[in-house]
Parts: sequence; C-alpha cells; structure tokens
Amino acid sequence: MYDTETDPQRRGETLATKLENGASKLEKVPHAGAVFGEHAPRGIGGLGGSDEGPLTEVHVFWLAGMSCDGCSIAVTGATAPSVEELLTGTIPGLPRVVLHHPVLSVSAGAEFVRPMRDAAEGRLGAPYVVVMEGSVPDDQALPEDQGYYSAMGAGGFDPESEGDQPNRVTDWLKRLAPGAAASVAIGTCATWGGIPAAAGNVTGSMSLMDFLGKDYRSALGVPVVNVPGCSPIGDNFTEVVAAVLMFLQGTGPLPEFDELGRPAWQFTQTVHRHCPRAGYYEEGTFAEQEGDPECLVDLGCWGPVVQCNITERGAINHMGGCMVAGGACIGCTMPGFPDKFSPFYKAPPGSLMSGGTSRVYGSAIRRLRRVTMRNRNREPIWDRSGDVPSPYASERAGPSLSARMEGFFYSKLQYRGSVDQAKRNKKQPNPRSMDIYRYASRHAGPDESVPDSIAGYAPPEAHGEDAAEQVEPEEKES
Ligand code: SF4
Repeated sequence: MYDTETDPQRRGETLATKLENGASKLEKVPHAGAVFGEHAPRGIGGLGGSDEGPLTEVHVFWLAGMSCDGCSIAVTGATAPSVEELLTGTIPGLPRVVLHHPVLSVSAGAEFVRPMRDAAEGRLGAPYVVVMEGSVPDDQALPEDQGYYSAMGAGGFDPESEGDQPNRVTDWLKRLAPGAAASVAIGTCATWGGIPAAAGNVTGSMSLMDFLGKDYRSALGVPVVNVPGCSPIGDNFTEVVAAVLMFLQGTGPLPEFDELGRPAWQFTQTVHRHCPRAGYYEEGTFAEQEGDPECLVDLGCWGPVVQCNITERGAINHMGGCMVAGGACIGCTMPGFPDKFSPFYKAPPGSLMSGGTSRVYGSAIRRLRRVTMRNRNREPIWDRSGDVPSPYASERAGPSLSARMEGFFYSKLQYRGSVDQAKRNKKQPNPRSMDIYRYASRHAGPDESVPDSIAGYAPPEAHGEDAAEQVEPEEKES
C-alpha cells in the first residue's frame, strides 16, 4: 500500500534522471514549481524539460469516478486545441498525448489497464498526467475489497493476485496521483463534488481536492488543477492541458491558477460581465418568460456572482453557451453547486436589491438613450432636408421639438473641445443629385438621367473651413 506522505518522493526517485552530483537535471523553466514553495519536489520524473531534448510523449490517464461522461463529451468538442491535435502531436512544441480513456481508448481489459499499472509501479518510462472526471466516492471507508462505487480494471494491484474484484478508482488515485506530473480535475463533480456530493447522496462523494487533501502536490510540486463546469467548456480543459504540457516541455511557465486551483485566466471574471444580455440588466429590463431576449435574472440567473467564461468562449467553437442559448446561469462551475444554487430557475435573493436598483435608474437611462439614439440614427443630410429617403420611413415623423433640443445640447457637449461637426454639417450643401428620380425618368438613358444642374455643380471643398478654427477658443488655449 502506498503512503501518500512518503511516496511522492519515492515515486519521483524511481523516475528521476539525476546529474552526477545527484541534483535533478530536468527542470528548464526558471523556478518552475517553486511557486508552491521551496520544499516542493521539482523537476522529478523526466518532467519540466529534459537535457536529452524535448519530451516526445506524455501519457494521460483519464479516471472516471461518479460521472455521467458529460465531461468526456464536452472535451471531444474542443477546438482550441482539439483532442485530435493533442493526440497526433501536431501542435508545434508540444509532445504527443497518449490518452488512456475508459470510453475513447480502443484497447480494453488487461491491455487497457497495463500502462496504468506500469505508471503506478514507476515503470512507465514517460511522464504522465492524471485526469479525474466525476466525483470521488467515499468507498475507501468501506472494508477493503468489500465494495466500491466506481472501478477500473480488476484483480487487485498485487501482480500475484488471482482475485477478480474490480479495482476501485480511489485505489488508482492513491497510486497514480503522487507520481503524476499534474493531477487535473475536470468538471464540477471532480472539482467540487458536484451532483454526487449533493445533500442526501449515499456515496459520500467529494472532490479530487477533498480526497487528496491540502498537502497533495504532484511530482512537479503542483496542487490539483481544477477545471469546473457541468459540463465544462471543452476548450477550457484542452487549453489547460496544452499550457501544462508547455510547462513540462520547458517552453512555458507554470500557468497561473487562482486560490482554488482554477486557471485564473478562465475563471476570474463573472458570467454577467461578458453576458450578451448585460445591457438589458443595466437598462432594467428583464425577461418574463423563457424565450424573451432580456436579462434572465428574474428567471433564476446567478450570472452576476458566478465565475465562468461561457459568455466569452461559448460552448463549442465559440458558438452557443447558456445565456446565448436562452438559459439562465445556474452556477454549475461553482463550489457548492447544485445545492447552493437551488432551487433552479428561482430569482436569487440578491437580485431583489441589484435588479430592483437597475429597474429604477435603468428606466430613466433607457428613455434618455432612446432619444439620443433617434437623434444619432439620422444622416446629417436628412436633418438638413427634413426628409428620410427610405420608403420604410415614409410614415415616420421627424424628431420632435424636445428631441431636437436634446440633440442640440447633446452635440454641444459631444463636440466640446473638438471640431463641431454638427455646425459644419449645417453649412454643408446637400448633394445635387439627391432624389435623382425626381428629375429624370426611371427609364431614361444615361445622358437624360443626369439633371442639367449637376453639370454645373461645384462640390464643397473636401476639408471645408479650417477645422482648427472651429475648436472652442478656450479649449484651444488649454
Ligand atoms: Fe447577468 Fe444573467 Fe442577466 Fe446575463 S442573463 S445579464 S448573466 S443576470
């Protein structure tokens, strides 16, 4: 049985390539791994770059715990990079990934399990990453060999064993995690426990981080990396894998993770900040039923407090995603999901205050914007001629007196300290060939179609009056 306190060192030593003076010669990135403390083991196991040259392959052992396989499906849809690119090693500078996946691998049975055994026993001869999908059940609390909640392979871990009992995934984790270059939890079940850890679940499920504990470090000194989501965005995961591989290759720094081990560049911002419906929220207009285009907070959206990049990245290939597709954010990337965000589709209590406030000021802002939009939504020519030459607008009245006044003062503020384009536009003559069919028949020949008046028409000078002269005098002085 492995001891997680002492075995990380022992596993590392079996894989490490040492210099003659005994120091590890594997680390190329300056201070790689040191971000987690001076005492964290670093550069162990042929990782972090090799003096013999770049790594040619890295194994990924994909373990499935209490999982629905949704994470696997999400990852197969990744495009930047794609799983295929990682597997075929076509990304310049990155080693080829050898994926051992319970669903996607073509090998089965003992052949599938053999590399996992080799890795667990320090005989793989190549670096590896452990990926955990699904939460970790509490089956280590069961008497040994008496039951399991999720398993991979069978027959125990003793080569002499003749048993045929399934091997618990938790036993694989205990053996593989210490020697891994990195342990990555994919999806909310593996990162925070998720649905299998919700109240009332009999499996006692927990996250990978909860299972391995606060003191866990990979062979490279990296704590658990968490890529949450139910299901996660496939690109979030493959991007992290690529970043970790660059680190192993010695060509990139250790990616930045936040205080919960999430890739910081993916999970620092809230859903709300980049939501396509955020403008509606600001203007205080809210959807009343599914399918409405406005902000979904009244329909139970938790986006303002949920850290996730779905609104920037989309679900697949920058397309789709919850709010884009009309779904309220139910907090699936967050620790505590689902219980802390249930009941789903009920307005969060906090939205009473923030949504209520935006209703009040939003109604005023909305009206002011509408007036400004009407004023800005006109060519200067239309303002001068008093006509909009669009049949769609034939019934449309011109701006009201108050709108014109608003436009006047708005322009004053807008052009203050700059060239007053509104003033210049007022002086600009209208083009002579405007509304040309008034002067010539629709079926006229080329010569007839040109009104006489155009021949003698002198267009205004390109730059008109000296623009600098039109800047407000006091601004010019400043
Ligand atoms: Fe924010 Fe949700 Fe409304 Fe989008 S739908 S603006 S995330 S509250």
